[in-house]
Amino acid sequence: MARETKSRPSQPPPRPAADPDGLLGRLAERASRTFAERRQILTYDEYLGLVLAEPRVHLRDASAYLRDAFDHHGQVEEQRPWGRASRFRLFDQAFAGGRGERLVGQEAAQGAFYRVLSGFVRDGRANRLILLHGPNGSSKTTFVQCIIRALEEYSSTPEGALYRFNWIFPTDKVERGGGLGFGGGGRAAARKSGSFAKLEEGDVDARLSCEVRDHPLMLLPESYRREVLEAALAGRPELRLPELIGRSGLCHKCRQIFDALAAAYAGDLRRVLAHVQVERYTVSRGYRRGAITIGPQMSVDAGERQITADRSLGALPTALQNVALFEPFGELVDGAGGIVVFDDLLKRPLDAFKYLLTTIEDGEVTLGHSILRLNAVLVATSNEVHLEAFRRHPEFPSFRGRLALIRVPYLREVPLEREIYDVHIVPQIERHVAPHAVEAAARWAVMTRLRRPDPGKFAGPVARLIEELSVEGKAALYAGEAPVEGLDPDDVKALATAAAALRAEHAEEADYEGLSGASPREVRSVLLLAAQRADGSCLSPFGVLAEIDELRRHAADYQWLQRPAEKGGFHDQGAILEALRRLVLDRIEDDVRNSSGLVEDERFPEMVDRYVKELRHWVKQERVVDKATGQERDADGSFMAQVEKWAGAGPDAAAFRNEVMTRIGAHRTEHPGKPVAVMQLFADMMRRIRRAVLDERRPQIHRMAERLLVYCDDPGAVPAEERAATGTMLDVLLQKHGYCRHCAREAVGYLVRERVRRAGGN
Ligand SMILES: [Zn+2]
Ligand SMILES: [Zn+2]
Repeated sequence: MARETKSRPSQPPPRPAADPDGLLGRLAERASRTFAERRQILTYDEYLGLVLAEPRVHLRDASAYLRDAFDHHGQVEEQRPWGRASRFRLFDQAFAGGRGERLVGQEAAQGAFYRVLSGFVRDGRANRLILLHGPNGSSKTTFVQCIIRALEEYSSTPEGALYRFNWIFPTDKVERGGGLGFGGGGRAAARKSGSFAKLEEGDVDARLSCEVRDHPLMLLPESYRREVLEAALAGRPELRLPELIGRSGLCHKCRQIFDALAAAYAGDLRRVLAHVQVERYTVSRGYRRGAITIGPQMSVDAGERQITADRSLGALPTALQNVALFEPFGELVDGAGGIVVFDDLLKRPLDAFKYLLTTIEDGEVTLGHSILRLNAVLVATSNEVHLEAFRRHPEFPSFRGRLALIRVPYLREVPLEREIYDVHIVPQIERHVAPHAVEAAARWAVMTRLRRPDPGKFAGPVARLIEELSVEGKAALYAGEAPVEGLDPDDVKALATAAAALRAEHAEEADYEGLSGASPREVRSVLLLAAQRADGSCLSPFGVLAEIDELRRHAADYQWLQRPAEKGGFHDQGAILEALRRLVLDRIEDDVRNSSGLVEDERFPEMVDRYVKELRHWVKQERVVDKATGQERDADGSFMAQVEKWAGAGPDAAAFRNEVMTRIGAHRTEHPGKPVAVMQLFADMMRRIRRAVLDERRPQIHRMAERLLVYCDDPGAVPAEERAATGTMLDVLLQKHGYCRHCAREAVGYLVRERVRRAGGN
């Protein structure tokens, strides 16, 4: 404001009598009554009333507004395998009625963004450019789009109300007829309120809006403004006044209009403000209001042009007709009050964005005739390659302090990665999507992104486990699954405990985990290509495997395919594909088994539960009433022995039983009065039982798979006594496991070919 003041002829500052008749108090009272009415057009007095009644809503700059939009939607705690993650719900886009693309994961980046905003609010100004950086195709754009849609939504709520003002110049008739003392309808209202704000259109000759959406309080001379602010902030020590409202002034154009009117009215502020119409507005990216995105090719973000003479200028008061009015334009102007996003900022030559970094430090842009005060949160996106190049630029150190860097990496959690495609790709696919197809693609992407951990960084017995951890084991660990089938329960626990440290291991490195590997774009194209394969009628996991195999042959096109393979299959594209193939086969085998009725997965928890019950009877030496027969009996020793064999108890059954009882006892001490969560306590035991039972039954299951394959081609070829059972199996696969006839046959055929025939027919 200081610089702006120098450039114009000085005017005697208009000064009203300080709140002569308790006006402010009355206005506040009236406004609080009508606040809920969502007023669209206000006189200046009405607006002042709103400020006094709801200072928290009206005394915000863009950073406080964005932060409040985050708070408006709230947060939710999500349980992740490595701990809790706090998620900002605005990224779920629940309010967008399914239109908005949800941001999957990225809670760390969300939290960082919110902290930066809170810092701006504390500092009173958005004094840094937020740079979201990450590999190509990480969800940087989705991230900002979520924020923009949240702002649009928030601005239509009462708490998110935003106001700007326009200058209203009435027709001669209204003006000459005694200014505010003439006519009916809108004129009557005008007379009553002492304002032209609500005049009907026919009574208005010219309406000039403020392009930069100056805060309406800027219209008050500084001393009077301070008085209003003091009244508004009284008793609200938690409110922090943004620099914008506390210290800056009107834009150049509004200043010219204000001064001309003040001169014409001999410094009577009330008469000047009668020309002000305060108008509620909403953020809209489509209408370029408060939310702007700028592509990398654009380079002019703000400029200034002279208002050309037209009807509206002719209608201005004589004092104004001789002033050359300039209005600012451009993205920084349109984004005022909200957010301006520079897509791929660092793709531009440094000179094209250097000024932005200076701008953000000063909070203003110098235009031809004036200075534009910035009131927007500036956000840019960049891929890691461009950021790295920028980092090597000699001037980078001087810019570093003006940047708030937030990393948006690729996801490393299979369930989250999968969600992206389930939500955004699957609905576009016209073919049937076979079970495990999307899962395979998501798991592949995650595996290509993982880095081999350095066991030297971990102390104790876990170091050995980490030395042996494979790429599929690490992916499983991050997904909250057991990292390796059949691993000792203590080892599983030790690895799970190390998961958080593993996730953080490379976080500080330039080559962090989540920087390289298959991008969601590649996964998307793998899925779409797999859905168009000539050799299948469904999008099947085999199509996905084939497309991945195809892609990995184009190593020259992808840097991540060129990384040298490391122990455990890390960056080893062949090993990753092999692990994926095994996993798909395991899943299909599980589906066949579950549909056979031979051993259903639900049986395993029941088995463990029953084992614990029998064991208690056995310990207490009690006789129990058998539910099936109604007879008294002893604890079922043969059942217990069978379970112990499956669980790998070894020859010393007594020691095993002791261990189980000790675990229950310890759990009781830790959670007194609570029922024993058997499944949780003995998850490892259940896994071992499951594996043993499956191994035992595998030959039977494979035989059933072979019959099923025959049945798919010709039910009559299956022996009559097995035909009904095989038909039922197929039905279960279709109804319960999501297969159609084509992909069921394909999956079972694959299983038989890979596991049954190769293993020698059993
Ligand atoms: Zn203005
Ligand atoms: Zn299918």
